[in-house]
Amino acid sequence: MSPQSEKCANVAVFTQANEDLEIRQYPVDPPRDGDVLLSLERSGICGTDIHIHEGRLAIPGPFIPGHEFIGRVAEVGGGGLTDAFGKPLTTGDLAVVCAANPCGECLNCRTGETASCLAFGVTFLRDPEEAPHFHGGFGEFVYSQSGNLVAIPESVDLDAAAAFPCAGPTTIRAVAYGGGLNSEEIIVVQGTGPVGLFAIAYAAQQGCTVLAIGSSAKPERMELAKAFGASEVFDYRATSIEERLEAVRALATKENRGDGADVVIEASGAPQAFVEGLQLLRTRGRYMVPGQYSDSGEVAIPPHAITLRALQVIGSGQYTLEDVKDYLDFLSAHKDLQQAFARTITHRYKVADANSALACASEGASIKGVFVP
Ligand SMILES: [Zn+2]
Ligand SMILES: [Zn+2]
Repeated sequence: MSPQSEKCANVAVFTQANEDLEIRQYPVDPPRDGDVLLSLERSGICGTDIHIHEGRLAIPGPFIPGHEFIGRVAEVGGGGLTDAFGKPLTTGDLAVVCAANPCGECLNCRTGETASCLAFGVTFLRDPEEAPHFHGGFGEFVYSQSGNLVAIPESVDLDAAAAFPCAGPTTIRAVAYGGGLNSEEIIVVQGTGPVGLFAIAYAAQQGCTVLAIGSSAKPERMELAKAFGASEVFDYRATSIEERLEAVRALATKENRGDGADVVIEASGAPQAFVEGLQLLRTRGRYMVPGQYSDSGEVAIPPHAITLRALQVIGSGQYTLEDVKDYLDFLSAHKDLQQAFARTITHRYKVADANSALACASEGASIKGVFVP
């Protein structure tokens, strides 16, 4: 019998929207064959967790929220298990736990676009009463199928990896769907939350000229946007849409790149940002839209503009295991960025303090809040 079978550990359970999470204890048992037991190292609070908690994404409880769990392998169930990419897993290894559960059989899965699975599931939407209990990220342990794990290379700092384990792969998938980025392109990133900040770094590292739109109400994010490679960060309250349009078009003219930005990445989640994004693009420009994850309402747009200026609007809301690996490889290849990424983790919490953690994240007080052991 494993010594862990006597042990209990905490999880935070979502029961219904706008109710406090319940802190519960469950026994930590050895993993079943094919599963891996991981102990908490970092587990981020994503905007999606806030949307669910505040009722903007209706998902019935009870379940353990959280899909950014980074854990240390505590015990491997059965021999010869590897991560999703064939790396053998042993006790002490660090891995990102991917919560996505694509069906593998629908049209999109069959064509390799598992991020857009038609029967998309997530591993954590299970009643925590059901053994082995630790299904979601807001817990001191997680059990995962080995195939949902992506091992973290030794060259990647733990806090850097924990900065954007959802926003990073989400951005990488949106950019892939949008045909990638070219080094000579002008990119405008709308929003300086996790998706926006990662998008700035990702585009800047590919040699693009990056402009960002943020808010001076969050000056530390404006500053990070610059540290990540934005050559200019507009405060959306202090500048008008017309001023931003003029600045982007002036830059495009100066670079002889048409009548606007080659690419706009919508990462603000604000519906009205979409109207501006269409205007910021050059004719034939690509609008990548990973940021509108919750339904925040409607806006009026002139579809005529899409036709006349031959715009490409590309949605993307999930990511694949390969995108998680690409995120870690990106960090590994840009060691200089890792320190800046780690700086985004401004708040650390125990799982037992999940309610104050969610409240703090909801107020936008933290850039990134994570649960730690
Ligand atoms: Zn599928
Ligand atoms: Zn997320």
